[in-house]
Amino acid sequence: MRFPEYYAQAKRPVVSFEVFPPKDEPGLERLKQTIPELLALKPDFMTCTYGAGGSTRDKTIQIANFIQATHGMVTGCHLTCVGSSRAQLEEILNQMHAAGVRNIVALRGDPPKGETKFTPAPDGLAYGSELVEFIRDWEKQRGHEPLGLAVGGYPEKHFDAPDLATDLANLKRKVETGSDVVITQLFFDNAEYHRFVESARAIGIKAPIAAGLLPVLSTKQIKRIAGLCGSRIPDALQKELDAAGDDDAKAEAIGVRWCRAQVEDLLRHGVQGLHFYVLNRASHVKKILEGLR
Ligand code: FAD
Repeated sequence: MRFPEYYAQAKRPVVSFEVFPPKDEPGLERLKQTIPELLALKPDFMTCTYGAGGSTRDKTIQIANFIQATHGMVTGCHLTCVGSSRAQLEEILNQMHAAGVRNIVALRGDPPKGETKFTPAPDGLAYGSELVEFIRDWEKQRGHEPLGLAVGGYPEKHFDAPDLATDLANLKRKVETGSDVVITQLFFDNAEYHRFVESARAIGIKAPIAAGLLPVLSTKQIKRIAGLCGSRIPDALQKELDAAGDDDAKAEAIGVRWCRAQVEDLLRHGVQGLHFYVLNRASHVKKILEGLR
């Protein structure tokens, strides 16, 4: 199935899990063992990220293929424009398609380490919207059925955007060029998400907007991730995490409680999709979803 088909079903919300390609073989083995635990939580589909600069390209495809072939669970590949020319993107799309991938999360990507400004690769693409357009053209040229396409949305505004209105206008372009679904950057304050969805609807963005949720696993880790993503940690959460300090078990318990409260509020508001950044672990997501599915 393709992304839009899940969201078209009457059953709400669509639940998806995002994993990342581990750095080494033991990590890959651990992920393979975790997949059945994740699947026991009955997500609708999964996605696998694409490492910075395309560093994990083969592993991304390998993992998506493994989950689909071994477990029969639809898994989309993330794809970024970083470091790839149009010809290379075409080659990657061919590989993904040949591996049975029918869903893609299409992204611009971040500048490589040490660089602050995103520069497209020679004969490459500059924006997520260009990648969406490129994929839609590629499908037509090959005579393929349309892929399911998702793009990123930023409730707290993307780093590079001067303001939320400009960022939303750019998001609208991504949807108009052919994306089926928007998945948001992680956020810890639901008010940001609700405002974002309202503003998106007000300018005519009709695509489903899945809420991106990252349950905290440790105080140090969340500071780093939130800093990279530009996601604000609310004072109340920060206070609790400061008190937990280096005690990861305590931080995780706080993260589970916080995320569970976010989910309950989102469900009350009729959220269309819950996309969990599961960080290749299952036990915390299990606690969050317990009794809700
Ligand atoms: P774009 O939509 O291209 O936007 C980037 C900036 O350009 C924004 O400020 C936007 O307002 C502006 N902009 C867009 N179009 C125009 C235009 N035509 N003219 C002027 N300005 C414009 N990164 C990875 O490396 N690998 C992953 O697997 C990955 N997965 C992700 C999954 C999700 C759900 C999300 C939300 C993000 C993910 N990221 C990933 C991070 C993402 O690559 C970065 O956030 C990146 O900086 C932006 O990508 P984008 O496609 O959203 O950018």
